[in-house]
Amino acid sequence: MDLRCTSCHRTYPLDTRLWHCACGGTFEIAGLPGFDPTAVDSTVSGLWRYRTTLPLPEDAAPVTLGEVTTPLVETELDGLRFHCKVEYLSPTGSFKDRGTAVLVSVLRALGVTEVVEDSSGNAGASLAAYTARAGIACRIFVPAHASTVKKAQIAAFGAQLVGVPGPRENAAQAVQQAAMEGAYYASHYYSPFGLAGLRTVAYELWEQLGRRAPDNIVLPAGHGTLLLGIYRGFRDLKQSGLIPRLPRLFAVQARTCAPLYAAFIQGSTEPIPVEEGATMAEGVRISRPLRGREILAAVRETGGQVLAVSDGETLAARDALARRGLYVEPTSAVAIAALAHLRPVISAGETTVVPLTGSGFKSLNQQPRFQEKVRDFIIQHGLHHALETHVMDLVSEVGEVSKEALKATDYGQCPFVPTPELAGELGDALYALAALGDSCGVDLEQSLEEALRKYETRLEAAGHAGSNQ
Ligand SMILES: [Zn+2]
Repeated sequence: MDLRCTSCHRTYPLDTRLWHCACGGTFEIAGLPGFDPTAVDSTVSGLWRYRTTLPLPEDAAPVTLGEVTTPLVETELDGLRFHCKVEYLSPTGSFKDRGTAVLVSVLRALGVTEVVEDSSGNAGASLAAYTARAGIACRIFVPAHASTVKKAQIAAFGAQLVGVPGPRENAAQAVQQAAMEGAYYASHYYSPFGLAGLRTVAYELWEQLGRRAPDNIVLPAGHGTLLLGIYRGFRDLKQSGLIPRLPRLFAVQARTCAPLYAAFIQGSTEPIPVEEGATMAEGVRISRPLRGREILAAVRETGGQVLAVSDGETLAARDALARRGLYVEPTSAVAIAALAHLRPVISAGETTVVPLTGSGFKSLNQQPRFQEKVRDFIIQHGLHHALETHVMDLVSEVGEVSKEALKATDYGQCPFVPTPELAGELGDALYALAALGDSCGVDLEQSLEEALRKYETRLEAAGHAGSNQ
């Protein structure tokens, strides 16, 4: 087996430290075995059941955390019956473990001792767990606005979290710099090893449905690795003559960040670059999907569609599914929300599968963070390019409001009772400071907490502590 560029077809050895071809093209594994039903190890549950299809040297032991064949649970919503593939029962609570288990097994076999990655989401948590298991050092570069719950999970596995100020692209640049200095860039979207592992979803579905493919698969798509893994898995099954045709693939995005949807409805073969809008479906908040062209081709080849849903629809779908006993994070619920849109194209009697990609435990922080709201405001009003040049304006605005507030108390002589105008200006000043802090990469919520703690200490020192006890 070799790595081969999907663009210029140049080949590289499996142990290359490059994460893409010199021409910029993505890697594929050349010579990856297909699916042979007689080679399935029926004594094993989970992805290693299909070990002969995976790019791991025969003599290398897999790195495993006890992956299982994820259950297929039938349910219904508004009269539409479908099967949930409960991927959140994977070791770290998301489907990413299928890819990571393969990737980390290969890396250990290649003698890699240190990896870096720029996902602060499920892929980062998964990589942190499997590298902990394999004894490989792991550093994760995260943007300041990364989800607190997932960062806590990553840190718990012992990976080093490196905060990177500014937008997501900065974290990507930092990780590539670290990779150029010698660490292995174990990217969940660049790596073809991870993609190879995701094909096992298709193999499992084929076995679980009685050796046949479903008619439809509806799933969230950000970088689209799950979609491509499933597509390739079913393509293997078709090439082996085990299924007559591929299931229709329906990729679902969040309306505020939908480059594949934009391309699909415009008939484009390439994703349409979009601004990265905020969504609770953080796992699909990807404005430039790496293998977008291949995703669009796979969707069209199978007769599927790309859809986009609003956060409101997503949350309603998450709640409706939870009332049926299945608890997912908002990213997974975009696919459930899309089912209502697919009603006209899904016939009664068809088999429809929705992979439940991530656990509801991943998203206890349901409210958008203060910093998120500030960032959205900056993007909405086009301030992000000019913010630095507005520093003086912003700071002087804060100074003016402070002066007004001081005057309103007669310089500390009477209680502060702000007029509605002054209250509004306080809000403006708070925004100005927050926007300024955000543009410099300050973690606003953490800073606020620290400020409150400091203030508390000062109050205690001044003898105010316990006054209400
Ligand atoms: Zn190339």
